[in-house]
Amino acid sequence: MLNKNLKELSGMLAGREISSVELTQEFLGRIEALNPEINAFITVDKDISLKQAQEADRRIAQGNAGPMTGIPVAQKDIFCAKGWRTTCGSKMLSNFVSPYDAHVIERFDQAGAVNIGKTNMDEFAMGSSNETSFFGAVKNPWDRRAVPGGSSGGSAAAIAARMAPVATGTDTGGSIRQPAALCGISGIKPTYGVVSRYGMIAFASSLDQGGPMGKSAQDLSIMLNVMAGFDSRDSTSLDRPVEDYSRSLDESVAGLRIGIPKQYFGEGLDPEVEKVVQDAISQYEKLGAKIVEVSLPNTRLSIPAYYVIAPAEASSNLSRYDGVRYGFRAQEYADLVDMYEKSRAQGFGAEVKRRIMVGTYVLSHGYYDAYYIQAQKIRRLIARDFTESFAKCDVIMGPTSPSTAFDLGEKGDDPVQMYLSDIYTIAVNLAGLPGMSIPAGFASNGRPVGLQIVGNYFSEAKMLNVAHQYQKNTDWHLRMPSI
Ligand code: GLN
Repeated sequence: MLNKNLKELSGMLAGREISSVELTQEFLGRIEALNPEINAFITVDKDISLKQAQEADRRIAQGNAGPMTGIPVAQKDIFCAKGWRTTCGSKMLSNFVSPYDAHVIERFDQAGAVNIGKTNMDEFAMGSSNETSFFGAVKNPWDRRAVPGGSSGGSAAAIAARMAPVATGTDTGGSIRQPAALCGISGIKPTYGVVSRYGMIAFASSLDQGGPMGKSAQDLSIMLNVMAGFDSRDSTSLDRPVEDYSRSLDESVAGLRIGIPKQYFGEGLDPEVEKVVQDAISQYEKLGAKIVEVSLPNTRLSIPAYYVIAPAEASSNLSRYDGVRYGFRAQEYADLVDMYEKSRAQGFGAEVKRRIMVGTYVLSHGYYDAYYIQAQKIRRLIARDFTESFAKCDVIMGPTSPSTAFDLGEKGDDPVQMYLSDIYTIAVNLAGLPGMSIPAGFASNGRPVGLQIVGNYFSEAKMLNVAHQYQKNTDWHLRMPSI
């Protein structure tokens, strides 16, 4: 039961082989048994989850259920959920119980899904290893010595360890795709603006995008059908016709033009990861796809541009944590300014402080033109590289991450090394494009490798089709860690 994917569980609920309450109890039991070791969840609330499951069972009995009704969903702790503690992995929000629901949470509620708990994450989604969480690191279910990736590492680990069948994540520079790759699961970051950011705690607003994580592309399509859609409360939410993201899953990939950017196979890529990715591309060729060489020359500038733009936006977004209205407040202080300073000094961790300082610096008078404006120009050039490439191909493929999961503590004191682990994912956010990662094999250390698929704007249905066809012909996505 725990090994089944969303699609299978949905069929069992509809066929009354199991109730949502039984299913929810199964997963809650698994969380109770494994969470002390894996640390994938920050908050679990059995009472709320079981109440939602009872409600779902009523809907199923009334014949008014959809594909997600009664399905347990792990929610990244960046999504505000009414009545749930919502921490964003930070001491700053460790006592914050949200009075309202994020748009994404509302959508899952309307679909009748069960919130099975809030997943661990890097503090304010800043990180690639989940080690910056105030609630402690998450362990990779494939190898407890390894990180699960970040920042949606709790969600990825929860799925790999079968503590939840599906989960939500957010991706500002790779935080859905990289942990999906490192934990051997599937995840998609939609085109910027497809999923509402309302109630999704802000890190870098022009880059942040929520998306689904699960065991298969088919499951992601069912989740995205729930998550996507216009919301007037997010000024960058796109008002587009509603799409069925499952509609193209069964189309053939014969004739598909796959762009291979030479810059994604250069220095810094682990040869074992490269081999797995090349094998996956060969598999597509066997299915009739054609390979086209494309060039993304400005990708090498994506990390420096991102580490100007993202901290700039973060320094502004995080100014709201002042200890006054909600969140953590220092216990002792002399006056108002001292209260702000002490609350922020004690409430934020080192990585968050580093970003706030960098962001404040690059936005300051005298440096704005030299750093921030330059980074915005690079951002435009990166987007243009992709536009030119998509004139020649339908999707772009390459590795999601330059290495398999690294060891806990391995990159902890070297932020630049940590930042480099997002070298293949960040450009996609800067351009606002959709990107996904699917399991494609393993390295000799037994740790999973992800294949990244990048599509043109609004080509999610096509990308899910491309991923689904691979998953119909391979079984990497069915492999699970022995935990
Ligand atoms: N690892 C990147 C960072 O630390 C991206 C994180 C994310 O996508 N939320 O900013």
